[in-house]
Amino acid sequence: MRPFVFVNVAASLDGKISDESRKQLRISCQKDLERVDKLRAESDAIMVGIGTVLADDPSLTVKNPELKKLRIKEGKSGNPIRVVVDSKCRIPINAKILNGKAKTVVAVSRRADKGKIEELRKKENVEVVVFGEKRVNLSGLLKHLYKVGVRKLMVEGGGTLINSLISEKLVDEIYIYYGSMLIGGKTSPTIVDGQSFSKPVELEITSLEKFGKGILIKCKLV
Ligand code: NAP
Repeated sequence: MRPFVFVNVAASLDGKISDESRKQLRISCQKDLERVDKLRAESDAIMVGIGTVLADDPSLTVKNPELKKLRIKEGKSGNPIRVVVDSKCRIPINAKILNGKAKTVVAVSRRADKGKIEELRKKENVEVVVFGEKRVNLSGLLKHLYKVGVRKLMVEGGGTLINSLISEKLVDEIYIYYGSMLIGGKTSPTIVDGQSFSKPVELEITSLEKFGKGILIKCKLV
C-alpha cells in the first residue's frame, strides 16, 4: 500500500520550472500561491528532491494561519510532514526544511555518510530513513510513509524526482500551473527531467481553466 500521490508544479508556457541558474523563479501569481498553500494544508506530507532543497532552500510549511488552525482543529499537526529524497545525505545542516517547525523525514540510501546521518538525527523533529542502495528506493519510501499514516502525499518537484516517480508508476495525478511567461534555455529544468520515458506517458486531462494570470491543468495518469 502507498499514499495517494499528486504532483503540483509551476511552469512557464515553454515547460520550464526555472532558468539555467536553477535558482527559484517566481512563476505562480498570488492566487496560485494561495491554491498551493491550500493543497499543502490538505496533505499529510510534502515531498521534494535534494536538488530542490539545494536550489531553493524551501521551508515547505503552510503559510496561512487559518489553514494551520483548521488542521489543528482536525487533530493534525499545524504543518504536513516534509520529506526530502537525498541518497547521499547532501542536505545542508542549516537548510530551512530542517528548522524543526514541522517534522522532516530525510530519506537516504545506503551510500549516505553515517556521520552526517547521526548529525541529522540529533536535530529536533528530524527523522532519517534508509531505503535503497545507490538511489533512494521510492516505492519502499512510499510504503513506509503509508505505514506511518501518510495517505495523501504532495510532490513539489523538482523535475528529476518527478521523472522517477512517474517512471515507477507512483503518481496518481499531476497539476500544472502554467504562468503567462516564457523562460527559455536548453538546460533550464523542465517539469519532467532526467531521461525520456521508454514510451510517452499518457495523461487524461480532468480539468483546464484560466487561473489567476495563468492556466491550471489537472491530469490523471492513465
Ligand atoms: P530534484 O528533482 O529536486 O532532486 C533530484 C535529486 O534527488 C537527484 O539528483 C538525486 O540526487 C535525488 N534522488 C535520490 N533518489 C532519487 C530517485 N530515486 N529518483 C530521483 N531523484 C533521486 O532536483 P532537480 O531536478 O535538479 O530540480 C531542481 C530544480 O527544480 C530547481 O531549479 C528548482 O528551482 C526547480 N523547482 C521548480 C519548481 C516549480 O514548481 N517551478 C518546484 C520545485 C523545484 P542524489 O543522487 O544526490 O540523491
